[in-house]
Amino acid sequence: MLQNHSKDRVSNKYEVRLRRRNAMWIHNGKKECPHAELTSGLCSNAYFNLSEVCSFPFENHWLASSLCANLRGQGLKTVDFVVGSAYAAITFSYEVANCLGSRHVFAEKGSDGEMLWNRFQLPKNATVLQIEELVTTFKTTEAVRRVIIEKNKHPVKFLPLIGTIVHRPQKLPIKYFFDNEPITIVPLIEKEVWAVPQEECPLCRLGSKRVKPKNNWADLIEC
Ligand SMILES: [Zn+2]
Repeated sequence: MLQNHSKDRVSNKYEVRLRRRNAMWIHNGKKECPHAELTSGLCSNAYFNLSEVCSFPFENHWLASSLCANLRGQGLKTVDFVVGSAYAAITFSYEVANCLGSRHVFAEKGSDGEMLWNRFQLPKNATVLQIEELVTTFKTTEAVRRVIIEKNKHPVKFLPLIGTIVHRPQKLPIKYFFDNEPITIVPLIEKEVWAVPQEECPLCRLGSKRVKPKNNWADLIEC
């Protein structure tokens, strides 16, 4: 269940880049090193902190151009709008829109974490591609789609593809549906990452401390 990333053979060039920018952490199996306590309260042995890489405009641009090429490889032609979600994905989805020659829009987050669609109105039947920087569960992606359907004055045409830098579900392969329509995730990196309740966590059992990753990022990365 645990992987020692120092012994991992890293074959994915995007993963290499994320590691170099400290945007990705996997527990090394040592009990003196802390592990991640997710927002959900679950424990995990891996975490992606993509702001660490996307805050470099040239890295963000390179990742977006690579995803753009993958999307074209999946048959994507032109889209009217690329939509991103608040907030980490905004600069990345902007770069993807730039690459595709599309307009860029984004959903926002309210004070209770709810998804808002106040800033933009999309024209009738516009083709829309959703871009995220990270897909863990389908929750955020679904919330963005749902709020546009509910709040945009006109109906739009969502493409059945979602592009992302990282897709890290708990189990692979996984199938996603939105209103019974199958959705294909197009990632640059796809990895199974476990997340379990504290009482089932092998790292807690080992004696590793659990910490909130974003506030303790240096402790995770440097251990
Ligand atoms: Zn734990």
